[in-house]
Amino acid sequence: RVEFEQQTIQSGCPFCGVGCQIDYHVADGEILYADGADGPANQNRLCVKGRFGFDYQSSPERLTVPLIRRDDAPKEPHAKLDPANPYTHFREATWEEALDRAAGGLNEVLKRDGSQALAGFGSAKCSNEEAYLFQKLVRAGFGTNNVDHCTRLCHASSVAALMEAIGTGAVTAPFNAAKDAEVIIVIGANPTENHPVAATFIKNAVKRGKRLYVVDPRRQMLSRHATRHLQFKPGSDVALLNAMIHTIIEEQLYDRQYVAARTHGFEELVEKVRQFSPEEMEAVCGVPADVIREVARDYARSEASIIFWGMGISQHVHGTDNARCLIQLALITGQVGRPGTGLHPLRGQNNVQGASDAGLIPMVYPDYQSVAKQEIRDLFEDFWGTDLDPKAGLTVVEIINAIHEGQIKAMYVLGENPAMSDPDQHHAREALARLDHLVVQDIFLTETAYYADVILPATSYYEKWGTFTNTNRQVQIGEPVVAPPGQARPDWQTVQEIATRMDLDWTYQSPAEVFTEMAQVMPSLKNITWDRVVRERSVTYPCDAPDRPGNEILFAESFPTEDGRARIVPTDLLPPDELPDAAYPMVLTTGRLLEHWHTGAMTRRASVLEDIEPEPTVAMHPRQLRTLGVEAGDMVRVATRRGEIALKARRDRNVPEGMLFIPFCFEEAAANILTNPQLDPFGKIPEFKFCAARIEPA
Ligand code: SF4
Repeated sequence: RVEFEQQTIQSGCPFCGVGCQIDYHVADGEILYADGADGPANQNRLCVKGRFGFDYQSSPERLTVPLIRRDDAPKEPHAKLDPANPYTHFREATWEEALDRAAGGLNEVLKRDGSQALAGFGSAKCSNEEAYLFQKLVRAGFGTNNVDHCTRLCHASSVAALMEAIGTGAVTAPFNAAKDAEVIIVIGANPTENHPVAATFIKNAVKRGKRLYVVDPRRQMLSRHATRHLQFKPGSDVALLNAMIHTIIEEQLYDRQYVAARTHGFEELVEKVRQFSPEEMEAVCGVPADVIREVARDYARSEASIIFWGMGISQHVHGTDNARCLIQLALITGQVGRPGTGLHPLRGQNNVQGASDAGLIPMVYPDYQSVAKQEIRDLFEDFWGTDLDPKAGLTVVEIINAIHEGQIKAMYVLGENPAMSDPDQHHAREALARLDHLVVQDIFLTETAYYADVILPATSYYEKWGTFTNTNRQVQIGEPVVAPPGQARPDWQTVQEIATRMDLDWTYQSPAEVFTEMAQVMPSLKNITWDRVVRERSVTYPCDAPDRPGNEILFAESFPTEDGRARIVPTDLLPPDELPDAAYPMVLTTGRLLEHWHTGAMTRRASVLEDIEPEPTVAMHPRQLRTLGVEAGDMVRVATRRGEIALKARRDRNVPEGMLFIPFCFEEAAANILTNPQLDPFGKIPEFKFCAARIEPA
C-alpha cells in the first residue's frame, strides 16, 4: 500500500455567492476531501456542493489540449456532441496554432466588419483579475463595449434598481446581519437550495426569536421556520409590495424624519400607491389583505428589518420594478444603514459581484463608471492608452439577437455557456451556429463549445490564484490546491495571449499585478491590496484604512448619489409578458437545485451530486399529477410557444397548483428550450420566472 503525504490548503468554493472558505485535503495531486474553514461568510459551515462537489476537477472529460474545428465539421444548431469523443468535430492543436487561429479570426472580422461586429461573454466563475482583463480586451482590443456575463441573467434588474435609487449595486449589509434583525423578509429566493450556508444563518436567527416572512409563489424548506409564508400568485410581486407600501403610508408607519432627510420622490410614491390598497390587491396577488397589513406593520415597526431577495424578484420583465418596491420599503421605513437592517440581493455565482465590479458589463467600466460620460471615458482612455467606444454595448440576449440580425459576426466566450443558459435555447443555439468565428475558453467541452472554431483549455477554480468577491462584498483569495491537467492554462494568461495578438502591449506577470492595476481605477478597492487579501484571506469593501476591517454595513449617514439622498421611483402594475391561455394554461418557472449549479457543466461531473440528482424532472403539486393522470416518475411532455421537452414528473407540495418548476441544468431536457426571452426594459434580464406552458403525459 502506498501512502501519500497529505496537505491541507485553504481556498474558496467555486459555486455560489455565499463565498465559503474551504480546507482542501490533498495528496498526490488529488483533492481527497473538503472541510469548512473559518471564513467570515461560512464560519466552518459548508453545503453539499462545497463538501462533495469538487471531483469535477479530475473528470476525464476535462479539456487538456487546445482544439481546432475540423474544416468539414458542420455547426448544426441542434446537434449534440459527445464530450467523450470530440474528435469528430475538432482536432488537437498546439497552443501557438490555437491562439493564432483564435486571435486571427477575431482580427479578420474586426478588419472586415468593424468593432461592433465583435462581442465577448466573460464569466462570474472567473476571478476579479480575469474578469478585468477580459473586459479590457473587449474594450481596448475589440474596440466595443459589447461585453457582458451571467449577471444579465441573474441580478441585472436588482442592480439597475439599486444604482438608480442609492447609487450602488452591492448589498448594504452582509447576510450574517440577520442575527441583529428583528424581522427578516426572504422574497423570491430559496436560500436553502441556492445559498445554503446563508440559509443556516437565517435559521439560526429564527431560533433566537427573530420573525421570518418567506414570500414566494413556491413554498420551501425555510417556510417551516417562518412566522408566515406568503404564497402570492406568480408575477404579482408589484401588487403585493405596493400594497405593503400603501399600508405603511396609510397607517403612518413610515419614518418621516428619514424620508425627509434621506430621500427624494416620496410624494409621487404616496400618489402612486393610493390605488394599491391591500383589499384591492388581495384578488391580484392572492394574499389576504389582513396578512399583507400584518407583515407590512411588522416590517415597519420593528427595530431592525432586513430584506433578502433572489431571482424570483429579478427574473421578470418587471424585475426592476420588483426591486424598486423592495428598496422603497426599506427607504420609507428607514430600515437601512443600521445593524440588522438592509437590502441584500443574494448573489448567484461565486464571483458575480466581483465580475460586475470589474466591469464585465456593457454600459460601465470597472466600478460601474459609465462608458457614456466623457470625463470617465477620458480617464480610462488615458489609463489604457487607447480610444474607447462612447456607446454602451449590447447585453447577453441582445448580442444573441444581433447575431441573428447579422451585426455580430465573431465572439470570444470565456467560461459562459449560453447554449444552455440563455432563454429560448433554439434561438440562442441558432445564433451561435451562425457566427463566422467563435472562440470558447473553458474547462469542459460545453454545449457552447460545440459551436466553437477554437477551444482553449482553461484552469478550474482549484488550480489558480485569484481574488473573488462574494455576496457580502468580501474580497477573498482563491489559492491553487492542485495542478491543472494537461496543457490547461490560467485564463489571465490566455486572455493576455489573445490581447498581444490583437496589438495590445500587455506584459502582466501575475494576477497580483493585474489586481494592482485594478485598484488604481476602482475606488471600491481603496486600501485593499493583493498582499493584504492573501494575508487576511478576506477583506470587505469599502475599507477606510489599510489596517482597518472593511465596512459591513453601509449608508448610515448618506448614499453615494450626487446629493447623498436616495431616489424613490414609484412602480405600476405590469403583467408578465406571456399569460396562460387555453393552449398553454400553466405557469412555468425555472431555477436551480441544491445539488446542481447553473448549467450543470461542473456539478453534473461531480459524482456525489450527480448520484443524488441524476435526471431532469418537472415538479408539480400532487393534485396536478392526479389531474394529469400520471404518477411521480412517469414521463410527461412540457411545451411552450418556443419548444417542447420530455422528462419525468416529480411530486412537490411546495409548488402551487397551476405552476410547473423545471431546473435548467439538464441538457437532456433543457428548460431553456421553453423559456421566454422577453426582457425587462431596464435591467435587460429575461423572464425566466414566468411563461405560459402546457403539460401532458408522454
Ligand atoms: Fe459553496 Fe455556496 Fe455551498 Fe458555501 S453555500 S459551500 S459557497 S455552494
